[in-house]
Amino acid sequence: MPVILVINNSICLQCGGCVPLCPEDALFLTFDHLKYDTDLCTLCGICIRFCPVAAISEEDRIAI
Ligand code: SF4
Ligand code: SF4
Repeated sequence: MPVILVINNSICLQCGGCVPLCPEDALFLTFDHLKYDTDLCTLCGICIRFCPVAAISEEDRIAI
């Protein structure tokens, strides 16, 4: 099943700690949100393991 990265911005502290760890430079911190580029992300899981508040997760994409 296809998997996508999900960022829970209601939990994210916008600390920015995960951003420089991404080997693909796929994470971006805006003024109030953490975002990622789906074309760059390889779902390596580094940001998921790093985040101290578990704001990033992998979830199955539900086929529409
Ligand atoms: S490490 Fe976690 S809390 Fe910090 S910016 Fe990344 S997702 Fe948000
Ligand atoms: S899963 Fe890996 S490639 Fe995707 S945003 Fe997180 S650190 Fe970057």
